Amino acid sequence: MDRRKVKKTDGDINSSVVIDRPATRLMPPFVPGGQPGVAEGPLISEQVEAMMAQMNTPDADVIVIGAGPGGYVAAIRAAQLGGKVVIIEKDALGGVCLNRGCIPTKAMLSSAEAFDLIARRNSEFGVNVSGEVTLDYPKVLDRRDKVVKQLVGGVGFLMKKYNVRVITGTAKLISANTVEVTLPDGKTEKVTARSIIIATGSEAVKLPVPGLEGDNVWDSDGALAATEVPKRLLVIGGGAIGIEWGYMFRKFGSEVTIVEMMDQILPLTDSEIANDLKKILDKMGIRILLGSMASKVEHKKGAEVVTVITGDSEQQIEADKVLVAVGRSSVSAGLGLGEIGVKTEKGRITVDDRMRTSVAGVYAIGDVVGGMLLAHKASEEGVIAAENCMGRDSKMSYKSVPAAVYTTPEVATVGMNEEQLKEQGIEYKVGRFQFRANGKSLGIGEREGYVKFLADPKYGEILGCHILGPHATDLIQEVVIAMDSEATIEVIGRAIHGHPTLSEVVKEAALDVNGESIHKG
Ligand code: FAD
Repeated sequence: MDRRKVKKTDGDINSSVVIDRPATRLMPPFVPGGQPGVAEGPLISEQVEAMMAQMNTPDADVIVIGAGPGGYVAAIRAAQLGGKVVIIEKDALGGVCLNRGCIPTKAMLSSAEAFDLIARRNSEFGVNVSGEVTLDYPKVLDRRDKVVKQLVGGVGFLMKKYNVRVITGTAKLISANTVEVTLPDGKTEKVTARSIIIATGSEAVKLPVPGLEGDNVWDSDGALAATEVPKRLLVIGGGAIGIEWGYMFRKFGSEVTIVEMMDQILPLTDSEIANDLKKILDKMGIRILLGSMASKVEHKKGAEVVTVITGDSEQQIEADKVLVAVGRSSVSAGLGLGEIGVKTEKGRITVDDRMRTSVAGVYAIGDVVGGMLLAHKASEEGVIAAENCMGRDSKMSYKSVPAAVYTTPEVATVGMNEEQLKEQGIEYKVGRFQFRANGKSLGIGEREGYVKFLADPKYGEILGCHILGPHATDLIQEVVIAMDSEATIEVIGRAIHGHPTLSEVVKEAALDVNGESIHKG
């Protein structure tokens, strides 16, 4: 049949799509009951078929629920592959990452570093500052909000560019192909699609500790909303989020105590790196209590008094604000998952390596499926799910997902750490190189830390890399690519690294695995 492309719009410019449709000029108009002498049998049946097909055509190829870094990236990828895409978001485009997570915290951390450099380290760089250097916290927040606004606007622009229809509302699955959206005015709309990607993210876990409530008790969102720097801050939880907030407020001038249940901060990080970061934070004046638990909080004379248990001893610590950062849990309640048979485990949606849930046509990605709760992991899972929705066969690999902490020095890691290698009985060699022996590190005044490689002794396979140092979060990327492409430690060691760059420390640490570092003293 002669077919031509017809542009179909349903009133929303974002939902215009090119569809394949039979050329109408070859067909007589269809009239129910037939038109004697005009319509011929086969043509009418073909027309009925075409109309029926159109009636059964879903509104979209893919519906994405949640517009965080998982969901919006999935929407773009599906659209790139020719899909008609609808994305449903109940709050702001960009999700936690852009609005309340990665981006606002890093913008604030930059202000903290600038303050530290000008107020405390100016003379080291030969810069005289006359008068008192003070912090204008409302301006810090204003700058942060501008950064967020610009990036959220950027996601909106991309949605338009890719003709993704954005619906503001709360989504619930009615079937494997239908989503009901409760719009801001309380009305509902049903949207259908061939595939659905759930990307509803995570929320802060609440600790069942008596007294942990009220305006002086924050989760990460509460800390973002604060308009003043607290004089005394007690952080419960020494993971990445707790450490970043504690570090940031210390730089802004708060007295900070961090209470961590495990015997190291950043419990999943290589212990050598985590312990060395702790020493640096100790030197900054952050009080870190390991192996400790907050057991109750009392409000006394305007202060929060936190009872902290360490082993057999108990102490009371006063703080103006208590920040709870003990982890995040999946947002999966109220989505109708149980009703349509999507399996979950402790709230996390169960998926396979193609991001498929237990229901055909329904995929899930990002924080809601658990694993490493990181934006870039969510985005890559989004790409995988979108490609599978659009007929490709893509598999997710978690072998080389980098993780980072944005203190100074930064922490960045990829692959296995020493504890995991020991546990699994895997043989390894270690290569290390210190930033203090690197020209650029000394020049920029960031001399603390090192790069540590763990590699297979026989074949040189890179098993892990752990960096504590300046711009570690950018430096790790060369190792991620090396691991992805199965390049050996020798490849990094032999590759020419520009001079003077921080990346020379990566090269030297790679060479050190075989005792061939040129500059190691
Ligand atoms: P989210 O970003 O959580 O987005 C989910 C979206 O779904 C939300 O916008 C939500 O409103 C929407 N939604 C939920 N339910 C519905 C519904 N029923 N209908 C419609 N919409 C719905 N990660 C990093 O990689 N690097 C960092 O530096 C980093 N820093 C962080 C700092 C903080 C303080 C926090 C809290 C997190 C940080 N993260 C960081 C983690 C990162 O933010 C998350 O891993 C990432 O946002 C997960 O993306 P997602 O798309 O899975 O979900």
